[in-house]
Amino acid sequence: MPRPEFKWLLDIDLDPDKGNYKEKFNKLVSFLRGLRISNYPKLKRYAEEYKACMLKLDPAIEHFTSKVCPYCGTVCCKQKFAFPNKEDIILFWSLDIDIPFYDFNRDINGSCQFLSYNGCVLPRLHRPFRCTWYFCEALWLQIEINPLDYNIETGLKQLIFAKEKLINSAIDLITV
Ligand code: SF4
Ligand code: SF4
Repeated sequence: MPRPEFKWLLDIDLDPDKGNYKEKFNKLVSFLRGLRISNYPKLKRYAEEYKACMLKLDPAIEHFTSKVCPYCGTVCCKQKFAFPNKEDIILFWSLDIDIPFYDFNRDINGSCQFLSYNGCVLPRLHRPFRCTWYFCEALWLQIEINPLDYNIETGLKQLIFAKEKLINSAIDLITV
């Protein structure tokens, strides 16, 4: 059972569309900065499994996005998608990743601050999970017509499994 003083952590809804995002973001980040991942060896192990799944997927996704995204007329990378939700912040913490600097003054519906001429400048593990999980129709089509030896769908299933195991265990361990 989670302790009552951690109810805020269970309830926090970090969504830039819902208001007070920056305050909630700062609260969660400073709370996690007070905890050392090295004190949670099980989580560290799960984080390594998650990282391995992501690093296996990354070249395959890059292979396909590099064929489709440079020709896209409706680029999906908006500023609001760069902002991490609660799970992303827990992932960053468990992976011991320095959280990128976010420009909270930008229009959340404008172009993402991390979008460059050559695509996203952030390493994949430093991006919110949604940036890896989103596949537009054109991208799926490209994957279907040019399959690789590596199966992306299997990789995605392994990734979501590893992520859920890590997040659920992190919340359980932090809040008891
Ligand atoms: S993922 Fe799809 S919508 Fe997003 S930039 Fe690439 S082609 Fe465009
Ligand atoms: S993939 Fe990178 S550029 Fe695109 S929304 Fe995510 S963080 Fe921004």
